[in-house]
Amino acid sequence: MVWGVKNLRETLSKAKQILLRYRLCNKCLGRLLASSWPGPELLNTGEVIKAGLLEEARALAAQHPEEAIALIKALSESGYRAAQDDALNYGLDVKEKTCPICLDRLTDEVIDAVVAEAVRRVSGYEFEDFLVGAYVPKYITAIEERIFSEFGLTESETLRKEITREVGKRLEAVLGKPANFTSPEMLILVDIFTGTAEAKPTPLYIYGHYFKNRIDIPQTPWYCSACWGAGCERCGGLGRMYPDSVAEYIGEPAMRLAGAIGYKFHAAGREDVDVTVEGTGRPFIVELIMPRRRMVSLEALKEAVKSCSEGRVEVEGLRPATHSDLKMLKETIEGSTKRYMATIQFSKPVSSEDLARLDASLRGAVIEQQTPTRVLKRRGERLRRKRILNIESRLIDSYTVELYVEVDGGLYVKELIHGDSGRTRPNVAEILDNHPTSIKLKFLGVLKTLRH
Ligand SMILES: [Zn+2]
Ligand SMILES: [Zn+2]
Repeated sequence: MVWGVKNLRETLSKAKQILLRYRLCNKCLGRLLASSWPGPELLNTGEVIKAGLLEEARALAAQHPEEAIALIKALSESGYRAAQDDALNYGLDVKEKTCPICLDRLTDEVIDAVVAEAVRRVSGYEFEDFLVGAYVPKYITAIEERIFSEFGLTESETLRKEITREVGKRLEAVLGKPANFTSPEMLILVDIFTGTAEAKPTPLYIYGHYFKNRIDIPQTPWYCSACWGAGCERCGGLGRMYPDSVAEYIGEPAMRLAGAIGYKFHAAGREDVDVTVEGTGRPFIVELIMPRRRMVSLEALKEAVKSCSEGRVEVEGLRPATHSDLKMLKETIEGSTKRYMATIQFSKPVSSEDLARLDASLRGAVIEQQTPTRVLKRRGERLRRKRILNIESRLIDSYTVELYVEVDGGLYVKELIHGDSGRTRPNVAEILDNHPTSIKLKFLGVLKTLRH
């Protein structure tokens, strides 16, 4: 032998200790010792090791019969057929034991069966690549870990790893698609213990900007707080305060186009129900759950949103997104500059000098804002400091002003205008010494948007 005889002896001696205590099948014994096997990689390490141990037992027979018998008993109970004749010769009652790690389920037959089941499960789903996960009961993992620590096996591969590797290899061949360990489009979960497989396509993400052309559409379904959707007198039996929402106008057609079973709507911030969204729109990502199709026509989605909302909601700049874009989208909520246009009616006439003074005092100002009275119940008292980066006001007629602002995300713009009884300072009403009677707000988009 060209490779270390000493290492081989060590491996065999470890195998013997393990086998005398745990009747591992060929595959599990081989997997545990594959990393310490001194020779070239083998397909049947376990069998080769057991053959070596049988040789050793036979050599021991003359001088140490008890040791030889114990080893032959262990080998034949572990399902090693070649040792079973020797066992019979010693008058031993040969009873094969179940492998305590894989419960004798780690066989080509079982693996092929779960692969076939997996192939059936994924049919009907569009995907480019996949990742295999294996279910292993906790008590099995515990036994495995106990054996690892009992015999100082620090490099050994786990049962789970062997299953996923074996199933993955076969699936790559059968499906003609590669495994993807970081962002697979399909998750395939197998369970060799029950012989089952499950297909879980990962979500499909679509990024875009939405526009809300009418007021009185909440961003997400607004359920009736009296009945929570059941329908009552307050909501006229509808179960909700508004019949529709931006999320539904985008999510429902997207779900149909992708053949998904559900969706989640994520947006960079949220406007009040009476605020329109214009300008560059509001960034969003729609997350489609268990999509059957991934090659969704974004043009078709854009048209579908427009037609199902009868033009009330539109989308632009649609493109495929990833899970990490979702994190970025959430970060843009707080960290970005937002643009608004307000049309304000005042109770007293306003002059252009007033507006020049307003712009000068608010441009670059830091606004101190206590949580608005109208959201206090939900949000809790907190002082925010937010900047006004840019402001431009324009007189429409002597009572009407158009106010354009660029502000830090999180500033409540209506309160900036009416002052919320002094809870937001400085504020427009105070500077002009004039009380607004109506405020119409448009959200014009964020300055920093998701980059691709
Ligand atoms: Zn096993
Ligand atoms: Zn109700």
